[in-house]
Amino acid sequence: MARALIIGCGAVATVAIKKCCTASEVFSEICIASRHRENCEKLAQELRPNTKTVITTAAVDADKAENVSKLIKEYKPDLVMNIALPYQDLAIMDACLECGVNYMDTANYEPENVDDPEWRKVYDKRCKEQGFSAYFDYSWQWAYKEKFEKAGLTALLGSGFDPGVSQAYCAYALKHQFDTIEEIDILDCNGGDHGYKFATNFNPEINLREVSAPGSYWDTDANGKGHWVEIPAMSIKREYVFDEVGKKDMYLLHHEEIESLAQNIPGVKRIRFFMTFGQSYLDHMRCLEDVGMLSTQPIKFQGQEIVPIQFLKALLPDPASLGPRTVGKTNIGCIFKGTKDGKPKTYYLYNVCDHQECYKELGSQAIAYTTGVPAMCGAMMVLTGKWNKPGVHTVEEFDPDPFMEALTKYGLPWKENFNPVLVD
Ligand code: NDP
Repeated sequence: MARALIIGCGAVATVAIKKCCTASEVFSEICIASRHRENCEKLAQELRPNTKTVITTAAVDADKAENVSKLIKEYKPDLVMNIALPYQDLAIMDACLECGVNYMDTANYEPENVDDPEWRKVYDKRCKEQGFSAYFDYSWQWAYKEKFEKAGLTALLGSGFDPGVSQAYCAYALKHQFDTIEEIDILDCNGGDHGYKFATNFNPEINLREVSAPGSYWDTDANGKGHWVEIPAMSIKREYVFDEVGKKDMYLLHHEEIESLAQNIPGVKRIRFFMTFGQSYLDHMRCLEDVGMLSTQPIKFQGQEIVPIQFLKALLPDPASLGPRTVGKTNIGCIFKGTKDGKPKTYYLYNVCDHQECYKELGSQAIAYTTGVPAMCGAMMVLTGKWNKPGVHTVEEFDPDPFMEALTKYGLPWKENFNPVLVD
């Protein structure tokens, strides 16, 4: 019996909220809050007749910690589930600290305005020291470790699929399948087709920023020292035949969980992340980038200030509306190379999710489903005390077993392959 404040009511949050309502024994009360309360209320009205979970709604602009603190003080939750955008991570963490509440999210912090000189100073230093230039990284949230520890509060970062389940798979492989893991390839394949020439499967701004950035991976030099290798965006391409999906082109991207896995998987030498893209998506993205439509820098247009990428977002299909049109499957998982009992071993752990099955069950496409279910399961781990560890932690730092059991129960069972085709 617990009370969760859920900030965000978009594509991912909607799935998480619907799943919370099927687990009223844990989520006995939830409050759904975002800037547009009417969206939260609409969802609440749809759910109330069929759940024992008591649902309330609120309006909050989570860009400011004081707004979130005010709501937390009124609602008194046991956990704040941040399923808004990465821009709000720090403000919500500040509010949780002020009010003494546990925190979780699905994506690590990045600023909305990457031209902010204060942020830029820290960013430029990190690019030089670390060797990767993505706008997002864990340093901002890891800086809260001591504060959360001292307050006796748990902050669970990145409890979506990737990040999230991908790290639970790593923890599971290490616990049950390997003595040491040397190489990890995270493969994210969306074999779904929504019929549009161009649309993003989750928030377009976050999605396009991520995939238009330079790629990078973790590697180890001859002296055993781990380091980042950065490459131009989309410059490493591989072909892979995915179970239940078929052959797809995939590209090496920078991804946030590489950063924490490099620290938390002892002895790991190489970690890469690949995502599949169709040619049409890449052509559109390149063109939009070339004409400046992916810029976050405000411009004046007919006397009004507009941010190009936000304008683009208004033109693109709402990711939440892709559900009825999307057919096909996702296949997301990790291929491991390492040793067990002194012998070399390879192992592939993955989930296959069908877009239309997700739509039938919850009215959402599989990308929102595969993120929203782990968000709810991660919250459940914290609320039931299975993942209570004061500090700021990523998923691989916790026992994967109860989480993976919950994933199976709530719709994301895993599959194994003990002789996978490796990525060269
Ligand atoms: P959407 O754009 O669909 O939804 C975002 C929600 O956040 C909206 O309900 C919006 O409501 C709310 N919101 C935005 N700004 C604020 C604010 N200032 N204060 C309060 N609420 C706000 O995004 P998605 O559902 O697609 O994505 C949600 C999160 O999931 C993102 O952080 C994304 O990066 C992450 N994600 C993680 C994945 C993973 O595997 N780990 C995969 C996919 C996504 P309103 O406008 O009313 O405020």
